[in-house]
Amino acid sequence: MHELVTYPILVGGWTALALVVFVTLFFVSAPYGRHRRDGWGPTIDATTGWVLMELPAVVLMVVYYGTGNRRGDLVALAFLLMWQVHYVHRTLVFPFRLRGRGRRAPVAVVLMAFLFNLGNTYFNGRWLFALSPLYPADWLTRPVFLLGAGLWLVGFSINIQADNALLRLRRPGDEGYRIPRGGMYRFISCPNYFGEIVEWCGWAIATWSLGGLSFALWTFANLVPRAVAHHRWYRQTFDEYPPTRRAVIPFVL
Ligand code: NDP
Repeated sequence: MHELVTYPILVGGWTALALVVFVTLFFVSAPYGRHRRDGWGPTIDATTGWVLMELPAVVLMVVYYGTGNRRGDLVALAFLLMWQVHYVHRTLVFPFRLRGRGRRAPVAVVLMAFLFNLGNTYFNGRWLFALSPLYPADWLTRPVFLLGAGLWLVGFSINIQADNALLRLRRPGDEGYRIPRGGMYRFISCPNYFGEIVEWCGWAIATWSLGGLSFALWTFANLVPRAVAHHRWYRQTFDEYPPTRRAVIPFVL
């Protein structure tokens, strides 16, 4: 069957899986970071795990760009740049800034995230660089792209700032948790997750694609249940936790 026929079927099934994951994660938190617990098999150094599981997103996107039929096209280049700005940071910068002695993550979590990145990069990269109808030359000046790219940038900035604030809470070797304060932490427990969700919603709009929409839904499915679990954990752990702070969407959730 031609890839143009299989693509919408696969992306539909892939997106339906996000719904299953969303519901499941309310009952079973992914066992890494503060939710790490025994019974999830062998573990791996957390920094190595982050690099391995995110690497397909960096490498495969370049492969899809290089083997596609849009090389040199400005719109394709803009999409590649947006993607790589996020994923080069997530893969090759963020993991090396993590603090905490001997931090480990289950191999099972790394493997699931690795598989997610294989699928997600396929659905975005193949579509944008080979399968989609050619984006018009003026796409980068159209309101849909400008709105999406603007949202993407706002989300990316919130995500980076919020992650930086968390990383600053620990001195090298320190592995405890403190209450994060300031910035968007005044309103929500997990502005890094909020920023990531906004970022990929922006991507979905800027690319106006099913792959982009699927990624935004997957991000929501992965991060909203985790933010709810983090929020509950903060409230149970710190008596003085700010009572008006919500989990992940300011004033709402
Ligand atoms: P967390 O917010 O759980 O943790 C981020 C880092 O900060 C970890 O090193 C954590 O340590 C540390 N930390 C968190 N809270 C505190 C605190 N109160 N005091 C001291 N240190 C703290 O984020 P994740 O690890 O789940 O995710 C990291 C990044 O990856 C985020 O930007 C997230 O948006 C992104 N991500 C994206 C996904 C997607 O589907 N697109 C899925 C998962 C993550 P420790 O690990 O020891 O808890």
